[in-house]
Amino acid sequence: MATLIDGKVIADSIRSEISSELRQIMQDRAGAPRPGLAVIIVGSRKDSQTYVRLKQKAAEECGFISTVIELPETSTTEEVVTKVQQLNASAAIHGMIVQLPLPSHVNEAHVLEQISPSKDVDGLHPTNVGLLHTRGKAPFFVPCTPLGIMELLKRSNVVVSGKRAVVIGRSNIVGLPVAQLLLQANATVTICHSKTVRIEDVVREAEIVIAACGQRELIRGSWLRPGAAVIDVGTNAVTDDTKKAGYRLVGDVHFDEAKAVASCITPVPGGVGPMTIAMLLNNTMTGYKRSLGLM
Ligand code: NAP
Repeated sequence: MATLIDGKVIADSIRSEISSELRQIMQDRAGAPRPGLAVIIVGSRKDSQTYVRLKQKAAEECGFISTVIELPETSTTEEVVTKVQQLNASAAIHGMIVQLPLPSHVNEAHVLEQISPSKDVDGLHPTNVGLLHTRGKAPFFVPCTPLGIMELLKRSNVVVSGKRAVVIGRSNIVGLPVAQLLLQANATVTICHSKTVRIEDVVREAEIVIAACGQRELIRGSWLRPGAAVIDVGTNAVTDDTKKAGYRLVGDVHFDEAKAVASCITPVPGGVGPMTIAMLLNNTMTGYKRSLGLM
């Protein structure tokens, strides 16, 4: 039976480590500002509003100053860019994110390109992406979910070096960067996607499986090599009238089958999700420490 990798417990300890480090900095440096995280949200999508609220609450609990800029659904690309540029110029802001998705009439790629790479705590600016994928270079920031996955593996004592890792999904936000981080940690990495043929045979080779395809319970227990470490990134909403929200979240891995075969596994929810927010705080703290010359 697999050990459960409790992302909430691990994320909570990272958050308290960040809080204590901040308290120490504030004690050592009288008059130092607090870390500033800004989130731009355009429109009124309920799910985006929930994510932004969670990020704001987490930042404030850590002792950060959190600024949320709400722009109307009708905002133009230029209006969003103007806000981004104001935040680029503000010394009080150490990290900035634009909550995605943006309304379809806003040029998302153009907006993301306007964020200063040194404040791009989501790690999505082409400069940061390019640096991540260049040997011998380091980006200002690595995207939060992939960084959280690596931290989960590290804190669960999963050895990555020399292991066969399979990543299912090749998105800019999860699949590609996590594959790159696994490669940098000396795993031998295979990336699967929707056109992969006999995907179960590829997954069966893996000692580490990262499931990030957004397909409810696609990865079955029979696909897994016994003893594999399984990180389930998927968050698929399934109607559930017994829940107050009317739905529950299910992963990309068939949890009940997989836990009988894997050596360790993350649950959904409570696995990768809490780590994404913890890594956003970690990245903002990094930007803050750089601004104080502490890194
Ligand atoms: P995405 O942009 O939709 O990408 C999905 C990837 O999965 C694509 O590369 C796609 O292949 C691949 N795929 C789709 N169906 C497949 C199949 N049947 N077999 C193999 N590969 C398949 O998704 P994403 O943004 O990376 O997110 C993935 C999942 O993680 C979603 O459930 C999302 O909600 C969740 N997520 C969670 C967090 C968190 O903090 N917990 C953060 C981000 C994302 P193609 O490239 O060929 O289309």
